[in-house]
Amino acid sequence: MKRRALLLAPLAAFAAEAPKSAVRGKFLAPGELTTPKGKVQLRGDEATEKVLADPRLNGMDFEALGRFTEANRFVINPIHERAIWAYRNGQRLMVTYWCPVCYIRTYSPGECWCCQDDTQLDLKDPNSKDPTP
Ligand SMILES: [Zn+2]
Repeated sequence: MKRRALLLAPLAAFAAEAPKSAVRGKFLAPGELTTPKGKVQLRGDEATEKVLADPRLNGMDFEALGRFTEANRFVINPIHERAIWAYRNGQRLMVTYWCPVCYIRTYSPGECWCCQDDTQLDLKDPNSKDPTP
């Protein structure tokens, strides 16, 4: 046990500064990704889990930023780090949710906090000149 702890300590320090890794594949709710290396189960914080449960993302070319905790388990970075992406026609887009009534954008699905209507899935080009936030 002692030896294991000694080995893990420097690794943990390294992990905090290591570049973020990514996983990409075909998405299936809740949180399953089929990658060239096999199936990967995605996990994340509460807001991220809501995205992972969204069947509207099924079949998408999906990318998450975070880290592998096991060969087939991947923990996504916190939602505010914009760690969830999808590819459409070769373009990398942020997975966001949009209320067209209130012009409010969120990063997880559900009711708009303003009008309580269901938000729409909206894949957004981060470099777009679109004035919406
Ligand atoms: Zn609204």
